[in-house]
Amino acid sequence: MSDAAVNIDQARRALTTRFAAAGLDSPEIDARMLMGAALQLDLTGLVTQGARSLSAEDSARLDALAQRRLAGEPVARILGAKEFWGLAFKLSTETLVPRPDTETVVEAALDHVRGTGSVNDPLRIADLGTGSGAILLALLSELPQSFGIGTDISVGALRTARDNAVALGLGDRAAFVACSYASALSGPFDLVVSNPPYIPGGDIAGLAIEVRAHDPARALDGGADGLDAYRALIPQAAALLRPGGAVAVEVGQGQAGDVEGLMTDAGFTADLTMIRADLAGIPRVVLGRKKPI
Ligand code: GLN
Repeated sequence: MSDAAVNIDQARRALTTRFAAAGLDSPEIDARMLMGAALQLDLTGLVTQGARSLSAEDSARLDALAQRRLAGEPVARILGAKEFWGLAFKLSTETLVPRPDTETVVEAALDHVRGTGSVNDPLRIADLGTGSGAILLALLSELPQSFGIGTDISVGALRTARDNAVALGLGDRAAFVACSYASALSGPFDLVVSNPPYIPGGDIAGLAIEVRAHDPARALDGGADGLDAYRALIPQAAALLRPGGAVAVEVGQGQAGDVEGLMTDAGFTADLTMIRADLAGIPRVVLGRKKPI
């Protein structure tokens, strides 16, 4: 059978097998996503048109995408897009691929807001190192009266975040500022969130190729012990928050205790600090509340 005679179902199965043989973590999903991208079809289209033959151009396009995946590029990078909190985010080389783990930051922040009965209040939110804008825009999508500022040292990331805000219909409630963490902001804020770089510099070379070769190093590298960003941003958050406000930060594996200590040093009392685990049970978010007056 010539390549041109292969139908969508057959091509999808063959690609899944090829990805599985190469040891990829999610061969079936990856194959489906890349088929969809190569043929401009969603899942329904792939299923209902399963018997349709691929043209030579379709096959060539699919093979080019498959080669990129086999060379270690994540599907989200190849597509330039990733879903987070049920919302569609565009990516660029300047932004991390948003991770499901990071939804834990959104959950922790929303629980805090719900606990204070302020879901419908006009809260001021700051997302320090916003990247694609994922955390900030997820929060704004849930808090209809709130306004948020995302900061980043990468102007390219800010452009992507801005585009995402507009595409999600949140452009009039989000602003983006180029600075390091909160250095250009003045408070008071009700909520500060961040997924800063937290990988110890020496560990980066040992990360999966999808991360070390495709996520921006500046978004990963947390300095010698991985905690540099927290040392910078936690005292800034303490100064920005109004009494009763909260800061929620994502942390790497094994960092929650140290980050909680940094919060205590910055004046967040230990009895108002909480650690929240991700879906794998790993402590992933530390939330500190500033004492209400
Ligand atoms: N969660 C990312 C990883 O494990 C790291 C992101 C970060 O440093 N904030 O690869």
